[in-house]
Amino acid sequence: MAKSKKRGLTKKNEDELIQTLNDFAGWLVKKKIAKNLSNIDHTVEMPFANEDWTMKVDEKNKNVSFNTFLVEKSSFKYYKMVIVHEFFHLAVQRVPNKEDSTRIKDDFGEELMKLIDIEADFFTALYFKEKLGYGLIDYLKLYYEGSRVFYDRRIRGVKLERFIGSLLSITKMFLIPVSKKEDVAWDLYLPTINPVYTEESLHVLVIRREHIYLDEIKASYQDFVDIKKCYINIDKLSVKGYVDELIKFSCRALKIEVPEKVQNEINLL
Ligand SMILES: [Zn+2]
Repeated sequence: MAKSKKRGLTKKNEDELIQTLNDFAGWLVKKKIAKNLSNIDHTVEMPFANEDWTMKVDEKNKNVSFNTFLVEKSSFKYYKMVIVHEFFHLAVQRVPNKEDSTRIKDDFGEELMKLIDIEADFFTALYFKEKLGYGLIDYLKLYYEGSRVFYDRRIRGVKLERFIGSLLSITKMFLIPVSKKEDVAWDLYLPTINPVYTEESLHVLVIRREHIYLDEIKASYQDFVDIKKCYINIDKLSVKGYVDELIKFSCRALKIEVPEKVQNEINLL
């Protein structure tokens, strides 16, 4: 009789993931995104549970668990991106558990929770760029996988808004370099899709390091339909069609041209 296959991660991938989290923690402190992470000394477990959770933190026993069920649906690279995002919730934002996000929604509303996720997405991408050598296209290829893994026809507006917010924040970070003087600079985009139906634009709150401002993103109803397609009709899109659509949408929204180098790279996909 064949031995049943071990579920979850291989030992090698498990070790690599722990090494990545330690490296990410060091990078956060070095970039002054977190002051001191000496309190993040939890023991790490990576069980396989066929349940809908990704990270659980037990502060009393100083233990963090990452559910490896996603690994069966995705690549290891994608899983790593998800775990780094989750770790940011724990180490920097201190909202590691599902109850924490419910509490934030109750206390401060859904918009704030959306922003917290966009911020975690942003710093995950920045880490992948700076430490793992990712370019925008490779990174969006991971998003393609994510859209396939979390494929859901009944899209909720909030989820689509987070998707657009993260996409704009990340594209801007990759394509518009900041001056060397600034250690970290960022613009986090918090969009609402409601006005697209009446005004052909998306309203967006931009959170800069220095201040917050209100902006508008030109987006026709058709643009909106196209970007929505990337989220819900992903089965009909190739990775090339997907990445191309996302980059076109973001560059139009950010009022920049798609850089030639980026376009060439898309054409080669
Ligand atoms: Zn999250």
